Amino acid sequence: MTFTVPTSGRVELKDITREVVAEVEKSGVKDGIVSVYVPHATAALFINEDERGLVDDLTWMVKEIIPKDRTFEHDRIDDNAWSHLASALLGCSLTLPVTGGRIERGTWQNIFLVELDGPRNRKVVVKVVGA
Ligand code: ZN
Repeated sequence: MTFTVPTSGRVELKDITREVVAEVEKSGVKDGIVSVYVPHATAALFINEDERGLVDDLTWMVKEIIPKDRTFEHDRIDDNAWSHLASALLGCSLTLPVTGGRIERGTWQNIFLVELDGPRNRKVVVKVVGA
């Protein structure tokens, strides 16, 4: 199952929890795992709390995670080396347990797509495996 997430900023966090939960429910799997993946080299995924102030803090962290005070080799052919480096560090997939037909996640754990070179349309691939 795949869905598309439009982004509007160069760096932006998008909460995709609702979409992933819907895919798990649609699958009918009660016990297994859900894999969430972004097939992109300049985007990432992570889990954290969707609170407005914290989303601002996380966005700040993402912007600071790779220092910009150097010349990047990749910028000679494509002006987005920073985006690739941040994606490599943050990672492009998540695997979560599904129990009783629900994703096991803490109250304050939401799933975020992290745009690192937007605005773009980002594809999210969700695979639910189990019985
Ligand atoms: Zn590039």
